[in-house]
Amino acid sequence: MKFRTLAIHAGHEPADHQGAVMPPIYQTSTFAFQGVNRPGPFDYSRSGNPTRKALETCLAALEGGTAGFAFATGMAAETTVLMLFRSGARIVVQSDLYGGTYRLLESVFREIGVEAVYVDLRDLAAVEAALSAGAQAVWIESPTNPLMNLVDLAAVSVLAHQNGAITVCDNTFLSPYFQRPFEFGVDVIVHSTTKYINGHSDVVGGAIVVRDPHLAEKISFLQNAMGTCAGPQDCYLVLRGVKTLAVRMEEHQRNALGVARWLEAHPKIEAVLHPGLPSHPQHELAQRQMRGYGGTFSFRVKGGQAAAFRLLEAVKVFTLAESLGGVESLIEHPVTMTHASVAPATLDAMGITPDLIRISVGLEDLEDLIADLDSALQKI
Ligand SMILES: *Cc1c(COP(=O)(O)O)cnc(C)c1O
Repeated sequence: MKFRTLAIHAGHEPADHQGAVMPPIYQTSTFAFQGVNRPGPFDYSRSGNPTRKALETCLAALEGGTAGFAFATGMAAETTVLMLFRSGARIVVQSDLYGGTYRLLESVFREIGVEAVYVDLRDLAAVEAALSAGAQAVWIESPTNPLMNLVDLAAVSVLAHQNGAITVCDNTFLSPYFQRPFEFGVDVIVHSTTKYINGHSDVVGGAIVVRDPHLAEKISFLQNAMGTCAGPQDCYLVLRGVKTLAVRMEEHQRNALGVARWLEAHPKIEAVLHPGLPSHPQHELAQRQMRGYGGTFSFRVKGGQAAAFRLLEAVKVFTLAESLGGVESLIEHPVTMTHASVAPATLDAMGITPDLIRISVGLEDLEDLIADLDSALQKI
């Protein structure tokens, strides 16, 4: 079946739930055994819950994987993946990435002996050099956050596999509707379902999807042993959100491209970082690897941090907030907000400078969004 059909039906069979068309919220911690030594399909909600199972099955289908796992947050999903590795392991990591992932690697996993080595994954010679020094995994984000750089998923996966490493791709920014990393050889997909997959800014959640049954068994064990799973109510909300993922992503992309093109022509804008624009240095890779561009991108204003702050203060339709992927448009300043936990020298080296602004373009009317930015830019 095709994506839109799977998004609405995969994981739920009404006949199994008294005919309920929507998956019920199984708000229960435990399940009665069918007899002594005879558990039913579920025994305890940390190990498994029918509402969670519906979401996990749906997400696996949307990514084209064999097994999906739902977590309390995106960070809980990432922590669970990273617990596959032991002290002494090295992981090659995209140098420009989500600030929370950087903090997890530097402040938690480095302390217990899992070492992240930061590499610009656009540079395949550098990837090869880092891998040949010994690594167990490559951690990819594409597009990167907030700089919107792309990583060639197929090329990096080939190099990783030649060196005995697996690839992990954080697919939060595009969602499976616009990018399916398994088609390019990626081994593990992680998501913050908080973002586009849920899409309504009312849940924090995460997911892992894998293809290899051996990896699925390990993740399943860790999810249960560590208790990082999502609760049934949140799984229900994410399931409700995911049904409209395809239509939302199309509209996010249409609005975001409209805003990006308008900004690119504005005299107070220094640069627009959007892979759907021909000015993006990897526009060709974007067309090869992605089915669309999503709704989040960044731009640089002329006049540095002072001008950036004036713009953030002046907008009215855009809400000043972290996060992305909801129906409402958000605007934020990576240096002082989402990426504040990254060392200033590192930020500078990555190009995350104080003139940079990231927006998540929502589903409001495009004319209102442009009018809002237009009047705000007049004040900077
Ligand atoms: C938000 C986000 C995360 C973390 O997810 P939470 O649900 O906030 O824990 C991870 N990766 C990316 C790319 C994100 O945008």
